[in-house]
Amino acid sequence: MNVYDSEQIAIQLAATGYQQTSSLEAADLVILNTCTVRAKAEQKAFSFLGRLARLKKKKPGLIVGVGGCVAQQEGAKILKRIPHLDLVFGTQAIDRLPALISKIEAKRCRIVDVSMTDHPELLDAAPAGQNHNPVSRFVTIMRGCDNYCTYCVVPYVRGRETSRHPDNIVKEIKLFVDSGVKEVTLLGQNVNSYGKKEGLLSFTELLARVQTIEGLLRIRFTTSHPKDFDQDLIDAFQANDKLCNHIHLPVQSGSNRMLKRMNRKYTKELYLDKVAKLRDTCPDIAITSDMIVGFPGESDADFDETLDLMRKVAFDGLFAFMYSDRPNAPATQFKAKISDPQKSERLQILLELQETYTRKKNEALIGSIQPIIAEGFSKKQSSGSLDEPNQVAQWTGRTSTNKIVNFYHRDIPGSSRDIFPGKVVHVKIDKAYAHSLWGKPVAIESTVEGLKGEKSYAA
Ligand code: SAH
Ligand code: SF4
Repeated sequence: MNVYDSEQIAIQLAATGYQQTSSLEAADLVILNTCTVRAKAEQKAFSFLGRLARLKKKKPGLIVGVGGCVAQQEGAKILKRIPHLDLVFGTQAIDRLPALISKIEAKRCRIVDVSMTDHPELLDAAPAGQNHNPVSRFVTIMRGCDNYCTYCVVPYVRGRETSRHPDNIVKEIKLFVDSGVKEVTLLGQNVNSYGKKEGLLSFTELLARVQTIEGLLRIRFTTSHPKDFDQDLIDAFQANDKLCNHIHLPVQSGSNRMLKRMNRKYTKELYLDKVAKLRDTCPDIAITSDMIVGFPGESDADFDETLDLMRKVAFDGLFAFMYSDRPNAPATQFKAKISDPQKSERLQILLELQETYTRKKNEALIGSIQPIIAEGFSKKQSSGSLDEPNQVAQWTGRTSTNKIVNFYHRDIPGSSRDIFPGKVVHVKIDKAYAHSLWGKPVAIESTVEGLKGEKSYAA
């Protein structure tokens, strides 16, 4: 969601004549987009803003702005805390950015714009620019959230749930595809409730429409709320061959007592039942989740329930967080807070257990052939140009199940070894690591029919 918003901010700034630079020192304008979902992200934002004081001293004309959820949450308070800050703009003010910046340029004033409406205008992003992933893009389909989980700040900083019109979503994706994008990730806090309030299409109907976009190879989405995850979506995985074989289904805890206090509106049993139904239909689907440890009142027995759920589901991957108090979130007032050392200890136990499953899941893929969409050089490949053939270069892409696969350019079969971002490569996996896979390409798009065999297959 924040990547998408940062792209929108960049688009608005480009429209006012600003160009992106990779050097902070060279910038005339610095905008920080922020997240406040956990306390750590907010602390990082303030420490970065604090460090900009030195730069502003050297360059008094520099304009410094902060947007996103921290800006929405703290408003004018940030101007007091950060004396060298010129602009605070909220989550619904991105389209007003050009006007706000012009005003600051002309009057050298300090501005706060954090107004919110129940039905915000939703912007449309422009096609990929040079700093964007040329192959895979995020597309916001809805904003805000009405679920009020007791630990969560999102409903307070993002406002009420609002869905974009399907025509605008499809139009935006077509623009992306025309510029070379092959994969989109549809974004919403709870995609299952897409369109319900507005009486638009249902989420699965939207998926069916997106599926018809020619040239688009893959569709991903996040996040699905377990309370609303239903047979309709399970059926969509079967019916929609562009839909990737992966679901992120955040469970947060395995304890029914904690789930109730979190206001999640499902039980451990219901979650396990939905996972079982999903796997009945899609046995190879990768399932990832979010987990919070140390929610107020979480006992050892509650934590054991979480570990038990993890053993029963065997997630492909897990994002685990230590609970932190957030402004306005009801859990901030809950008693029986868990100490930091206890939270760390539980997090460590949980991560160690998850590591065994992540490894096992990755190792199970050794010997299989995975179709991936090449995205570019791998992280290890720090230099070189994607346009020049470089046979020792390491390339990277992801499987339909969202696992990273790296391989050597020189291993691509055929004399031309023709590869570029967006090309489909079938890779035979021969090594599994904790967070990635390594393999040898056995075929490229020109030798196989598009993404036929999208789901992995045996060699
Ligand atoms: N809409 C998504 C989650 C958005 S926030 C959902 O319903 O699952 C992303 C993740 O941050 C959450 O899934 C949760 O695990 C974590 N998170 C949110 N608030 C938190 C808090 N106060 N402390 C710790 N983790 C938190
Ligand atoms: Fe936060 Fe819950 Fe909404 Fe997710 S569903 S954004 S966790 S309130």
